[in-house]
Amino acid sequence: MAPRTVDVPALVDAARAGRPRAVARLVSLVEDAHPALREVMATLVPHAGRAWVIGLTGAPGVGKSTSTTMLIRAFRERGRRVGVLAVDPSSPFSGGALLGDRIRMQDHSHDSGVYIRSLASRGHLGGLSAATPQAIRVLDAAGFDVVLVETVGVGQSEVEIAGLADTSVVLLAPGMGDGIQAAKAGILEIGDVFVVNKADHDGADATVHDLRHMISLADRTSPGIWRPPVVKTVALQGRGADGVMEALDKHRAHLEETGELLRRRERRAAEEIEQLALERLRSRLEAVEGRSGLAALAGRLVAGHIDPYAAVDALLAGTDT
Ligand code: GDP
Repeated sequence: MAPRTVDVPALVDAARAGRPRAVARLVSLVEDAHPALREVMATLVPHAGRAWVIGLTGAPGVGKSTSTTMLIRAFRERGRRVGVLAVDPSSPFSGGALLGDRIRMQDHSHDSGVYIRSLASRGHLGGLSAATPQAIRVLDAAGFDVVLVETVGVGQSEVEIAGLADTSVVLLAPGMGDGIQAAKAGILEIGDVFVVNKADHDGADATVHDLRHMISLADRTSPGIWRPPVVKTVALQGRGADGVMEALDKHRAHLEETGELLRRRERRAAEEIEQLALERLRSRLEAVEGRSGLAALAGRLVAGHIDPYAAVDALLAGTDT
């Protein structure tokens, strides 16, 4: 079936005029790696680069959704438009996340300054690491001042996606993630701001202390180097929002003063280009695998009639054309 043709300029105009349906359609084109995506990106790029991209990551149940709601409120009070992308690298087809979105959207359904969407990657061979920067660009160009990227879990892929933000917030809860666990999961490196949520539970101060200690051990004391603050919240009651906003503002100022903002954006762009290049190479490879008889080559390797490098030569000979 031929893909539906897309009137890209009209769609982008509608998204920039703040129409949520147009934004949704553009994000769907990203998810599907739709053939029109190339034109979409070319049209969006001149309008992008204004949004502050904030990553939020932490283990399931730590309070990411609740904290996102709290941060949306805080940014809305400042008159900022907020787009939220919920990203779950371990389960790109999660219907549960979509249901959660619908529930969350009810809070903001009359507010055109808020857009919440979970991201899947139905068409991208590179998964969410290819789709996420593109979806961020959609929301950015659509005029959202802040794009919150909420990633689920604390595995390596979540850390990688969260690490592509301008500012990365790592959420922990007392007893769930002490400093050692945080270090193991690789989140100490990516956190620009640490939030110990559920501070109404026992052990919050110990977790804060533990984290500060771990941060002080890392080499982050020289001048000009950002020392991540650790703040406490009770997101369920909206307590601690001011502290988080203050930490975010300080980090934003640091990014601008040091030129780190541009460096991070260039890193994100490099990652995006690399992912798309890998995607293209992979699809070329898939196209020749059939033609060059990958199965036959595998059979010859098992039978001892060809070495693996010669098999690769035979396979890739088809990609040059
Ligand atoms: P997520 O899985 O990280 O998105 O976590 P949720 O935001 O869904 O929160 C998980 C559970 O913790 C929910 O039942 C929340 O109501 C609860 N929760 C969130 N923040 C707090 C908090 O500050 N204190 C307490 N006691 N519970 C909280």
